[in-house]
Amino acid sequence: MNMGRFQRSLNKLNEYTVEGKEVTRLAYSREEKRAKEYIIKQFEHEGLTVKVDAVGNITARREGTDASLKPVAFGSHIDSVYEAGQYDGAMGVIASLEIIRFLNEENITTERPLEVIVFTGEESSRFGIATIGSRIMTGRLNLVESGHLEDKKGITLKKALEDNHFNIENYHQAVRTSADQHAFIEMHIEQGPVLEIENKDIGIVHAIAAPLRLSLEIKGEAGHSGTTPFKYRKDALAAAAEIALEVESAAREEEKNGTLATVGVLDINPGAMNIVPGSAGMQIDIRSVSVESREKVYQKITDKIESVSKAREIEINTSLLTKEEPVDLSDTLVEAVEEISVNNGYTFKHMNSGAGHDAMNMAHICPTALIFVPSVKGISHNPKEFTHLNDIEKGIIVMKDLILKTACNEAGNLK
Ligand SMILES: [Zn+2]
Repeated sequence: MNMGRFQRSLNKLNEYTVEGKEVTRLAYSREEKRAKEYIIKQFEHEGLTVKVDAVGNITARREGTDASLKPVAFGSHIDSVYEAGQYDGAMGVIASLEIIRFLNEENITTERPLEVIVFTGEESSRFGIATIGSRIMTGRLNLVESGHLEDKKGITLKKALEDNHFNIENYHQAVRTSADQHAFIEMHIEQGPVLEIENKDIGIVHAIAAPLRLSLEIKGEAGHSGTTPFKYRKDALAAAAEIALEVESAAREEEKNGTLATVGVLDINPGAMNIVPGSAGMQIDIRSVSVESREKVYQKITDKIESVSKAREIEINTSLLTKEEPVDLSDTLVEAVEEISVNNGYTFKHMNSGAGHDAMNMAHICPTALIFVPSVKGISHNPKEFTHLNDIEKGIIVMKDLILKTACNEAGNLK
């Protein structure tokens, strides 16, 4: 692999950012649009046929020797969160470009066609929904129903699409089925510390965890901190704290099953030093690749909410924000990634992904693989995000070998 070229292309892509906020390339922003124009040029330069679908996902197709076969697709996303790093999504896109350049240079032709997919709007930072492009592509999002969602400036998703010359009414033209795709392969940074700490080159992902998210409204009673005795208090923060500790301990008991739970949001009102907190808002995120394990944690938290509410005579309203299903990736591709890693002399770890990726949607229409490379200190969604170039090269080689293996017809049906 030509890693100097890889680095130059990655740097170039990351020039498409809101100035001074590197990297900020939000879904359907001007910066994302320009980054897409750049990437389209690169694939066209390599002789690929580039198409942009009805919502802005890019597909660059390289023909194989048998046009009747379904293509092997690979890629990642091009948008970012606010003040992101250089690698999340972008690395997988440029890795895919490097593989195409390599195949062209080496005059390698596959039997199946290859399709690089560059997804739009993977991050939820702008409109509060994640993986817009891949959800639409796999028929898992009704864009018309989501068109009213607004960004911080009050611009709706509908308007943002219009600004990019897309009409949300046409979103279904972007939908694909299993008849369109033989397999999908995504390479991504781990965004966690495990590979680096355990000194492994490649993360072989078996399943992608799905979140269950709760929003709590804890209705206590504000009172003077100097004159309200404990027996007359309805302290919303003390109630919230009891629940938060249960969130942690319930999930710790299930950690062996890959379950994590977090209280990421806690607001107290009125928020003054001399007032007993009158109300609190709390948001809880529970993630697991096991629905059963996630349900156990959910049940314990629910029981705790009930007992705290009773004991403290405080009304607590709970609403379920999301409850998604975990996704299993292809066993055949998992085995293939392991074999390829061994053949190349790379160390590897079988693992699950706690974060969502476009791969989780693609897995609903075709056998899908997700390959992780190490994130230094596990830092991600942060300008300090970093992955060593030689670790990226190993990931690219594994992905390239997996593509070549999967794109010959003899490889047969995948599971
Ligand atoms: Zn990503």
